[in-house]
Amino acid sequence: MAVIVTMLFITNCTNDTPPKSSSTDTSSNSTSIYKQVSPMFNADSAYYFIKKQVEFGPRVTASSESIKCSKWIVNQFKKYGADVIVQEGSVTNWDKRKINIINIIAQTNTKATKRILITAHWDSRPYADNDPIESNKNKPVLAADDGGSGIGVMLELARVIQENKLDIGVDFICFDAEDLGKPEYEDSYCLGTQYWGKNQLPVNYKASYAINLDMVGGKGAKFVWEKNSIDQGEATLRKVWEKAALLGYSDIFQYLQLGQITDDHVYVHKYTQIPAIDLIHFNQQTGFPIWWHTVNDDMTNIDNNTLKTVGQTLLEVIYSEK
Ligand SMILES: [Zn+2]
Repeated sequence: MAVIVTMLFITNCTNDTPPKSSSTDTSSNSTSIYKQVSPMFNADSAYYFIKKQVEFGPRVTASSESIKCSKWIVNQFKKYGADVIVQEGSVTNWDKRKINIINIIAQTNTKATKRILITAHWDSRPYADNDPIESNKNKPVLAADDGGSGIGVMLELARVIQENKLDIGVDFICFDAEDLGKPEYEDSYCLGTQYWGKNQLPVNYKASYAINLDMVGGKGAKFVWEKNSIDQGEATLRKVWEKAALLGYSDIFQYLQLGQITDDHVYVHKYTQIPAIDLIHFNQQTGFPIWWHTVNDDMTNIDNNTLKTVGQTLLEVIYSEK
């Protein structure tokens, strides 16, 4: 994930009453019991997609491991029937180096006019600068959760969409170079997203809303309302949290508010004006996960329960659209 630009502040969202799920609904009116509309999200499958990425090693932007992994991601999306565009470009890093990047755009049902965008970054941070051990701080992050998990969930969504008819179109963008940044350099994160924003493919891209996934596979993950997401796409936050609650996931999708995070959703919104929100692991008690930007961001922290919660919620959102 990217830098937090303000102090974190947590307050209860006072205006929000979570909708009742079938498991928590104690009203006598049985017609209010919610019936899931979406096909099954397979967490084992998402887990496997994360593991496959991690097996390439850290996918630091422009490294040979990353180029190999990009080809694997492209082939997976093609296997699930998506139309894939590989966008190659060059960005300037905070240290003035020019770096080649690869954004991967995968579209389902390209004829549909109504479209939803799901995004995640697929690169690994080159330095584990949050690691408590000094000698680890210059090592790359394996990025099972911080990168790999979002792509794993998106691939599973693509697989399910291929097998279960959907009238709308879903577009997936895997952004490169999200995690090269340094907090002291403005706009030094999310370089792949900024490049795509200025060079949109498809040209003049439009979607009803966008959901960015960042650290969506970790043990103990909680998701809360992040401030930029509220400002850019409150109706989308409401929609996602409502579906999560109806599926009985209110313990994980919490009605709490968090300070600003600059993540890919900010640049998606900046360049397209599409309402864009961020789903990012943030626990009120412990903050970001302890493996965040450390050498411990590996498969041992990936949890099928979190993957299932996020993936099934997204499918319910997608399959509820007309
Ligand atoms: Zn990160």
